[in-house]
Amino acid sequence: MNSRLISREDKRDDRGMEEKYFHSMGAFLCDEGRLDEAIDFFCRALALKEEPYTHYHLSLAYTGKMEFEEALREISRAIEMNPSVPEYYLQRSHIRYLGGDKDKASTDYEKACEIDGNCRRIEEIKRGAELIEAQLKDRSILEASCPVVSCPAYCCHFSGDLVRHGVHIGPWKLRAIRAFLKENGLPEEDFIDRLPYSGEEHIQRLVPPNYILREQGQQFIYYPKRGDETMNEALLKDLPKGTDYRTLVWIADNARPCAFLNEKRCMIYNAGDENGLEACKQFLCLTGFVFATINHLKIIDERTLNGKTMGELNSIALEALLILSRGVYDNEELISFLQHRGFKARMA
Ligand code: SF4
Ligand code: SF4
Repeated sequence: MNSRLISREDKRDDRGMEEKYFHSMGAFLCDEGRLDEAIDFFCRALALKEEPYTHYHLSLAYTGKMEFEEALREISRAIEMNPSVPEYYLQRSHIRYLGGDKDKASTDYEKACEIDGNCRRIEEIKRGAELIEAQLKDRSILEASCPVVSCPAYCCHFSGDLVRHGVHIGPWKLRAIRAFLKENGLPEEDFIDRLPYSGEEHIQRLVPPNYILREQGQQFIYYPKRGDETMNEALLKDLPKGTDYRTLVWIADNARPCAFLNEKRCMIYNAGDENGLEACKQFLCLTGFVFATINHLKIIDERTLNGKTMGELNSIALEALLILSRGVYDNEELISFLQHRGFKARMA
């Protein structure tokens, strides 16, 4: 159990929610093609807190506007702040290529591949994950909890307060967690934090209304606290990717574990009638996603995975993803044959 925990008052990042709101709005507007508005929101996020991923997104918006000089400036700043993210080099390679500087574009591309050789087949990986997800119409089969038991639960590590990452505790789960803590003699203030809410627009837009709870005449959003244990270099080396093959930038050397993470397991997963917290149930990294799919298809014996490192599992998951997407989920004839043979429940 996490013994050393950040105390309630001292380290909460109150401006974090505002920065998150500006950044999320920018990303939303960028996806919608409203690039000038997106740029405005990204700049407001940067004014509150300079983050490499905001510079990265800002460079995407400038690239969309064909303003390559600004795009190059932003992505170079992102690389300066975090030189180990391969997609930043891919983005700079793209900008340089569009701007006509093919030599430097090629140098950046090679740098991305040097950090992660899979960048050479990144488009196929992304398409494969999209294809499988589209075929798995009943996504609930993937939500039963991640089957990768040997993972140190990277996804339970966060570089900011969990409320910023969308992990909130609803009323029923809060009751169940309080009962669990009481039963086990654990003090609530070591595990749960709360953000006061007085109608702020940015909070209203980020937090669903059912997570804004009233207690003693005031409103709060409850969320798990973070411990203060750091991730060592060996662990950081084997980080999995997101299902879109992006680096999970919030799991970095400044990330800390959720207070409920105990020996790689979630202490409160089964507390009350609801399994897990909503945001936790919905998240699967690429490795978790592939193993959940494999588990569902019942085509691998769990024992064969015992003893594998997380790095090996990430790589097995990637190869399995490509085999499944090329050979199974992209083959209408095979899917229909398997369904005919009684695999319907597994394939649909
Ligand atoms: S979803 Fe990914 S990071 Fe989270 S426990 Fe599973 S394998 Fe680990
Ligand atoms: S509540 Fe549980 S599953 Fe969610 S982040 Fe914390 S330990 Fe992980």
